[in-house]
Amino acid sequence: MSRLATRVASLTPSLTLAIAARAKALAAGGVDVCGLSAGEPDFDTPAPIKAAAKAALDRGETKYGPVAGQPRLRERIARKLERENGLPYTPEQILVTNGGKQALYNAIMALIEPGDAALIPSPYWLSYPEMVSLAGGTSVLLPTTEATGFKITPAQLEAAITPRTRLLILNSPSNPTGMVYSRAELEAIAGVILRHDLMVLSDEIYEKLVYDGVQHHSIGSLGREVFARTITSSGFSKAFAMTGWRLGYLAGPTDLIKAASAIQSHSTSNVAAYSQAGAIAALEDPQVALEVERMVGIFAERRTAMYEAVAAIPGLRCARAQGAFYLLPDISATGLTSTAFCEQLIEQFYVAAVPGIAFGSDSHVRLSYATDLDTIDQGVERLGQFVRQCL
Ligand code: PLP
Repeated sequence: MSRLATRVASLTPSLTLAIAARAKALAAGGVDVCGLSAGEPDFDTPAPIKAAAKAALDRGETKYGPVAGQPRLRERIARKLERENGLPYTPEQILVTNGGKQALYNAIMALIEPGDAALIPSPYWLSYPEMVSLAGGTSVLLPTTEATGFKITPAQLEAAITPRTRLLILNSPSNPTGMVYSRAELEAIAGVILRHDLMVLSDEIYEKLVYDGVQHHSIGSLGREVFARTITSSGFSKAFAMTGWRLGYLAGPTDLIKAASAIQSHSTSNVAAYSQAGAIAALEDPQVALEVERMVGIFAERRTAMYEAVAAIPGLRCARAQGAFYLLPDISATGLTSTAFCEQLIEQFYVAAVPGIAFGSDSHVRLSYATDLDTIDQGVERLGQFVRQCL
């Protein structure tokens, strides 16, 4: 009999990490690996953010702080959400968390009871179903394909709702599909949420990374009723190149934020004080805003370069993703599972990509363009050679 709790028995270890470890081992042996599997920006954190964190350390900000975050940071986040997203949260409705991941985890733990169902559009970010399962809930996947732009339809959502459904987890821009819901599409989804009195957990961590003039919209901004049923999750990792700082936030109804803070108070307590000082600079310093714009411009250029090269490979079908930093080409013409595809790709052509099975689709692989143009060009060239060999 296992001495481990049953709740961990069904957890899937991260496939992403296995590929990353293999790529690292090959590179350490002197192999020229093209890494197209990164889930984080390759840029350094903007200088004013680092300076603010260093100054905080020098001032002695090395102690425990309020669990929910420093008042000035909660206020800045509330102001940002109101001004940029049209979400009228008060500072008391903001919880500063150790990354976007902890924001989502706390929200799911605060909402999902054993037996509850959460609806998750698929392909999905791999941690959602695991978090729901840790809370004792069940994930109901809503499959999407290139044909619908990897988006759920209101009819599909409506049909999946049962008396046990508590929550819809929405992620736009999406990891791994890169798709972005339009305002009209979100309005249609909001209509279903209201009709069935559900909650929506909106993961907007890639909100700033949108291209082709596409706009990000927050579902909670679409009216008072849907705002009352929305929990917004976001963070600093992707837009500000701050993955290692562990900075995220949750915004939502006061009772939910209080419950999520209580969970945090018994697990991690506050985010490191100097990280929070960096976050304040990220939101306040005008130089940082310019730096973010510059990084988004570079991502846009890379997205176009990678998309055009991948779409030109016979045998791959690829949607033109308009957000985040991923493409999700369909590899079914090769006849390989996504895991076999990625294993052979890295062993034979030294290109690291992530098997789609990790995100719920075995007929896709995820390519990341959070790397320089040379790596993208070389990596996609080798990918093309591999696919030709498979056909
Ligand atoms: N949500 C999505 C969709 C992500 O892709 C990630 C990170 O990969 C996160 C949340 C968590 O980000 P963080 O590093 O801030 O915990």
